[in-house]
Amino acid sequence: MLATAERCAHGVRGEAGDSAVVAARNLSLQYPTNEGPVHALSGVNLDIRRGEFITLIGPSGCGKTTLLRLMADLEVPTSGSIAVNGKTPRDARSERSYGFVFQAPALFPWRTAIDNVMLPLEIIGMKKAERRARARSALTTVGLADFENKFPWQLSGGMQQRVSIARAMGFSPTILLMDEPFGALDEITRDNLNLHLSALWTASDLTVVFVTHSIPEAVFLSSRIVVMSPRPGQILKVIESDLPRVRGLAVRNDPRFQELSVRVRDALQAAHSYE
Ligand code: ADP
Ligand code: MG
Repeated sequence: MLATAERCAHGVRGEAGDSAVVAARNLSLQYPTNEGPVHALSGVNLDIRRGEFITLIGPSGCGKTTLLRLMADLEVPTSGSIAVNGKTPRDARSERSYGFVFQAPALFPWRTAIDNVMLPLEIIGMKKAERRARARSALTTVGLADFENKFPWQLSGGMQQRVSIARAMGFSPTILLMDEPFGALDEITRDNLNLHLSALWTASDLTVVFVTHSIPEAVFLSSRIVVMSPRPGQILKVIESDLPRVRGLAVRNDPRFQELSVRVRDALQAAHSYE
């Protein structure tokens, strides 16, 4: 399977150039099940450029998680190809190009915030002083410098999710993959985390691929919004944002914000009609 991926990635390099951080070509994935194959993704073509903030939005089951997992080398395509930084996802993974943030923070309760952030660095055998310095810097980036010695149960849900973002940032990844990271949080906490994430993105050359169900969250954060439809999962529409890169919450009063929200909503309505 690796051989196939390598062949495909090579093909993509010629077509898309090396500047694409993610290049998906006619990407399909079927999960084998007892009831026959589930067509999770079909014929997906997508180029993600360095420094973009891409949001995947669409009804449940339209393949958003599957697409993230393909980028992260956690799944292998059934057909088509995907290249990351001009390489196979596997090579990109071995170069630690990714940070992955899941819906639940998944922190170890017996480890403090900084010990949780250091864990992946410990696993790869990084020296203690370096991993502590990196973890400190990652915690500072998410505004938790003063909380490094707290245990998860001493932190709010929003803070716990910030720790998990810091953990994903520990390797200084070039790509941050986030699968509905703020879905379980209340609205005000979510606003604050959106602000944090937006500031983190604008201050770096990170490429972010983010999954959400929330239209305001998608419009607030993204430089491009990819609307997907189910059965089989495919891209229905790609909406480019004309909002400024640096944004505060007040941008939500901007007429362009309203207009983008309507466009996303209309596309989502069409996506739901596929259900
Ligand atoms: P989303 O994240 O958009 O909700 P997923 O990528 O999780 O969608 O799933 C896409 C489709 O693939 C769904 O129909 C889901 O039930 C199916 N699916 C996901 N993972 C598996 C799996 N491991 N085995 C079988 N079917 C799966
Ligand atoms: Mg999902």
